[in-house]
Amino acid sequence: MLVGLVGLLSVLDGVNLSGGQWHDLFIPVQRLAYVLAVMVTSWRFGAGAGWLTGGIMGAFILAKYFFPVELIPVRIVSFNFLVELGMMAFGGIASWFIGKYRESELKLHQSETDLRTAIKEWTETFNSITDPILILDSQQKILRGNLACNKTFGAGLEGIAGKYCYQVIHGIHEPIPNCPHIEMVRTGQTCSLEYLEPATESIYEITASPVFGEKGDIVASVHIYRDITETKKMQERLIITDRMASLGELAAGIAHEINNPLTGILGFAELVRDRDLPDDIRADVDTIYREAQRTATVVRNMLTFARRHPHAMEAINLNELIHRTLEFRKHDHATANIKVMCSLEPEACQVTADFSQIQQVLLNLILNAEYSMKQAHSGGNLNITTRRLNNFVQLTITDDGLGIDKSIAGKLFNPFFTTKPEGEGTGLGLAICHGIIQAHGGNIWIESEAGSGATFFVELPLAA
Ligand code: ADP
Repeated sequence: MLVGLVGLLSVLDGVNLSGGQWHDLFIPVQRLAYVLAVMVTSWRFGAGAGWLTGGIMGAFILAKYFFPVELIPVRIVSFNFLVELGMMAFGGIASWFIGKYRESELKLHQSETDLRTAIKEWTETFNSITDPILILDSQQKILRGNLACNKTFGAGLEGIAGKYCYQVIHGIHEPIPNCPHIEMVRTGQTCSLEYLEPATESIYEITASPVFGEKGDIVASVHIYRDITETKKMQERLIITDRMASLGELAAGIAHEINNPLTGILGFAELVRDRDLPDDIRADVDTIYREAQRTATVVRNMLTFARRHPHAMEAINLNELIHRTLEFRKHDHATANIKVMCSLEPEACQVTADFSQIQQVLLNLILNAEYSMKQAHSGGNLNITTRRLNNFVQLTITDDGLGIDKSIAGKLFNPFFTTKPEGEGTGLGLAICHGIIQAHGGNIWIESEAGSGATFFVELPLAA
């Protein structure tokens, strides 16, 4: 609009209105419009555009000084001509400053936008990480934490800044033993620690990594808390499986070695028993025979434990197998005051397995549960469930018996580990169960607390 105004005024001036009554009014207006037009164009489109506009408008304005040609020498030395030139020079310089200012302002605006985007992206990334992360200062005070801290530790993010990490995470008033932060400050390197959180019994891998300042000193640290409870359990199960495999080899060898002399002992003991014997000697021979038989049972169990590959694989209905096995124990449950509850998912029942081996596992787990409940309070509640979990059927057997102390939980599947008095347990039951379930491509593990009963989990692959 301003450019148009300058153009119009220049044309009017050029067609000889300059000497008229409007001259005194539109010449200042024209000059003002010129300067404004140059400044606005520079502001809006940059210094180059300002100069171009100023040049074009200047040509219009100066045109009148060059017509008619014979007056050029007089006009170009006139005061007005000099003022017009001064005005254009001013417009050009103003245009340059405005353009530069505008350019730096645009750059600043762009940097602010980039910064805001970067902060947004960083915060979203920080909060989308599912492992809790804390940023601490060198004194172990929290600077910030991601959303996962909220979920895992129930720590409100607003309230935690400025508190010590051990207060917020572990609820204590001094650093945890072997604190990785202290170690990191000492060594200047990333330090990790596996830490069992007593309150939740979760195992965390805590990694503290240093953040260095310009002078190379540690100004902050990044702490990542990874819950490795499940990984640890899995590792333990793998260790047990591995141990079982070597023990299986050993057991098979020993069992075969013992079997031959044992067959001889049993056979000859039977021959001696058939003879006419004085009562005291008969009693001794009976003891020999009975104990040899007991040893033969142990050897048989050892061979079952050592056997890797399941035989007679067929599609079996796990729920039906549970009902049939419970039938065996029905009478004992009634007399021992044991209440059985089953929650069996109908569609979770088809597995490919050896019926008698899985029944052996089930029976062994039920007998152990019964024993534990009878010891704890002469009866109790036995819960059996099945459910489908991805490509597996998960069976659980829960009792409210004695439970298992943490100190022995890792040994339960070891062959010959028993807490039962002599004569009542061989310690082979769970080892055999483990061997059978592994051979079926499944998993077996336990969750328990002393005094609160136990739950055995068995997972078997669903029938294809
Ligand atoms: P055994 O029954 O001959 O002792 P197992 O291998 O079947 O051998 O069991 C090993 C040990 O595991 C038992 O002695 C007992 O201490 C523990 N155990 C097994 N099942 C349970 C259970 N349901 N509750 C408590 N302890 C159990």
